[in-house]
Amino acid sequence: MARVYNFSAGPATLPVEVLEKAQADLLDWQGSGMSVMEMSHRGDAFVSIADKARADLKKLLNVPDDYSILFLQGGAAGQFAGVPLNLMGSSQKADYVINGSWGKKAVKEGAKFGDAQVAADSAVDGAFTDVPPRADWQLRDDAAFVHYTPNETIEGIEYPDVPDTGNVPLVGDWSSAFLSKPIDVSKYGVIYAGAQKNAGPAGVTMVIVRNDLMGNPQAGVPMVMDYKKQADADSMLNTPPCFAWYMAGLTFEWILDNGGLEGMAERNKRKADKLYAAIDGSDFYSNPVAPQARSQMNVPFLLASDELNKPFLAEAEEAGLSTLKGHRSVGGMRASIYNAMPEAGVDALIDFMRDFEKRNG
Ligand code: PLP
Repeated sequence: MARVYNFSAGPATLPVEVLEKAQADLLDWQGSGMSVMEMSHRGDAFVSIADKARADLKKLLNVPDDYSILFLQGGAAGQFAGVPLNLMGSSQKADYVINGSWGKKAVKEGAKFGDAQVAADSAVDGAFTDVPPRADWQLRDDAAFVHYTPNETIEGIEYPDVPDTGNVPLVGDWSSAFLSKPIDVSKYGVIYAGAQKNAGPAGVTMVIVRNDLMGNPQAGVPMVMDYKKQADADSMLNTPPCFAWYMAGLTFEWILDNGGLEGMAERNKRKADKLYAAIDGSDFYSNPVAPQARSQMNVPFLLASDELNKPFLAEAEEAGLSTLKGHRSVGGMRASIYNAMPEAGVDALIDFMRDFEKRNG
């Protein structure tokens, strides 16, 4: 069996130990005689899996007791609607800070449910290379929440710290940096993330919500999107994404076994630092993002000439370095180096990049 180094932005590579554990238990989960895929979500076996995953996530992120952790369906894009449907109730106003493509989609969706305003936008001629400075955010005191994207997956732009929004609840779409480093959950009203980058396979979306923000949704909120109803039902108002939830749980265990979020942060910084150093140290590769806002998870880079993109990708694939093509809106390459990307994968990519440059530079 040959596994490649998979640099996909998501669904992304999973820790091999997690896949092996799932494989070992696939047909008969711990003597139950059935696969997790085949279990009733109301049975003791699955409820124990679900409870353990929730408790491990709480432990990993040090989630305060006045927050609920939900395991939902619909992806992070579902939460582009879920957040305003649940939180906009108080004033019908929400402020959005834009530093990339996903934030743009979030505000467009939010505008369907009330007065969603762009409070800051760091695009220059349509391109994003930095986050908007906090001092430039035009926030409304009576906004129901401020939404931002801590890590923009496509442009590779990450906030170095958590912006302060005073009394207005901060909402973070943490999808592509979730569990990559410690987060101070208490600074947020809501954190949400699709699992398929750092936290498991696609299909389950984690929402961490401060309890006082639940229970006053917009009229007509779909029952499965109602945070309070889902929290009261332990995210089992209807059939949950059982297998994805189980896989997320195995991924949480793997993170706990590998130094927790501090361990992930240390390793992720080391990987990102060496990749950016390789890019900056060459005249052949470039990354346009302001150094203080560079993502530790998604590293876009351009080659000296677009004509070299095709051979670069083909030769990388042959060398076992997969899915490096950048998003079409940015071009060039993108290496997503989430938690499960081993340091050896980043080293192999850097070696390949140097060799390719030698032959084509
Ligand atoms: N937000 C961010 C930052 C993302 O990277 C993505 C997907 O890549 C999404 C939202 C959309 O997630 P989903 O496909 O789970 O709806």
